[in-house]
Amino acid sequence: MLTDQKIGRILNKRTEGVIKVSTFFVETHTHLDLIKKNTQEVVRDAAEKKVTKMVTIGIDLESSKIALEFASRFEGVYAAIGFHPHESKFLDEENLKELEELTRKDKVVAVGETGLDYYWKHSTLPCQMEVFKKQISLARKLNLPLIIHDREAHRDTLKILAEEAKGLKILLHCFSGDLNMAKVCIERGYYLGIGGVVTFNNAKKLRAIVKEVSLENLVLETDSPYLAPHPFRGKPNEPKYIPLIAEKIAEIKGISLEKVAKITSKTAQEFFGI
Ligand SMILES: [Zn+2]
Ligand SMILES: [Zn+2]
Repeated sequence: MLTDQKIGRILNKRTEGVIKVSTFFVETHTHLDLIKKNTQEVVRDAAEKKVTKMVTIGIDLESSKIALEFASRFEGVYAAIGFHPHESKFLDEENLKELEELTRKDKVVAVGETGLDYYWKHSTLPCQMEVFKKQISLARKLNLPLIIHDREAHRDTLKILAEEAKGLKILLHCFSGDLNMAKVCIERGYYLGIGGVVTFNNAKKLRAIVKEVSLENLVLETDSPYLAPHPFRGKPNEPKYIPLIAEKIAEIKGISLEKVAKITSKTAQEFFGI
């Protein structure tokens, strides 16, 4: 009988192989502070899979500070500073000021994640919108890109971005809209973050979007520790699984893994200036 341990070993073997690309991958969305494993090991394991640059994302003041600390400790790690929509209710004038100070530090490459989450509604909708707008202003003031979280709030997200974020660089992380929305986003010059969901059996809609839109508009992300790609679905996620997502995109588009790595890394590097 297969024990959990044995299954774990079999699954691990599948990512043990050397990743055959001449270039490297950029992981655009991880929460290193939430991964329950030594961060040095996480960064090293990712580098072994050629994931040598990553952006770790703040969800509140505390985690933004930790993101900065990791960025200063590890060469390939960069920080995004922001308040997740879940935490909107905790953003007051005082910590907004502190957030701005953090955002001016070295290796901060974006404001976020910010946006709207109408699924969980951990903060009220007016509060989420207000805090979202404040962070758009912050991004403008500091001339930084924005990382957007949008869950079941597509219409308001697009509306607020159109009204408030003209001219800013926008990345919709873990894109969950339909093809029509993807087209609107691309027309406006936004980028779409593609994560482990694209490998899930029930993600036909997302795969159709990946097939249809240009590779130049996509970047890779894990959103680790959440949303681990197949065959690790339901298990803790890590940046080292980025190649599994890239492999899926290559398969969907009928192109080489090399090309996915090259193009998505170029886009991510230009987007964040890293
Ligand atoms: Zn998110
Ligand atoms: Zn996230």
